[in-house]
Amino acid sequence: MLSIDSIEPLIPAARIEERVAELARQIQSDHPGGELVVISVLGGSVIFLADLVRKMKIPIRIDTMSVSSYTGKAVVPRRLRVLKTFSEDVRNKHVLIVDDILDSGATLAAVLRDVGAMRPASLKTCVFLRKKRQRKIEISPEYVGFDIEDNFVVGYGLDYDGMYRNLPHIAVLKKGHLQSPQAEGTTERSTFTTP
Ligand code: 5GP
Ligand code: MG
Repeated sequence: MLSIDSIEPLIPAARIEERVAELARQIQSDHPGGELVVISVLGGSVIFLADLVRKMKIPIRIDTMSVSSYTGKAVVPRRLRVLKTFSEDVRNKHVLIVDDILDSGATLAAVLRDVGAMRPASLKTCVFLRKKRQRKIEISPEYVGFDIEDNFVVGYGLDYDGMYRNLPHIAVLKKGHLQSPQAEGTTERSTFTTP
């Protein structure tokens, strides 16, 4: 396992709670009265999903998908496998995909392709975090919790090697081997913004 240099708080739990309430209100007002099928991408988005849906008062159904990215032999590019697909009949329904973090865009592209193929009445995306970086596939979620820099983050459902999902806040994890000794103590403080 990699050595971990530091774990620094980034987004406080109280700020997350406020922002999730805002997102829930926004989603609700965009779907007045209508039934919404919420499909959550496991497992990083489960805590966000649980908080988000409990703040919404419109009728919703909850479904899940599981997508894993893996690298085979070193030279094989990163590929995505759908481990578990959704089971709701989404044809002519209003669908919202909920994911933890938009990074390269590959995961959401695969999910949107599979769900979109079932011809929902509308298909929107909500991500808790969006990293500022060049994406492999351009994805424009309708709902974004926070924009963050291109750092590895944990907490509020996001893991490192299966750990830290239960942190109530978002923290930046700095791994030992990614930093040169000279960089120690001189790294810029990370920031976050709302769209
Ligand atoms: P993408 O397919 O957009 O590159 O990656 C999305 C998935 O990679 C996320 O759903 C998440 O599981 C994982 N991921 C990307 N960035 C981070 C990060 O900073 N921290 C953690 N814990 N997972 C990440
Ligand atoms: Mg994920």
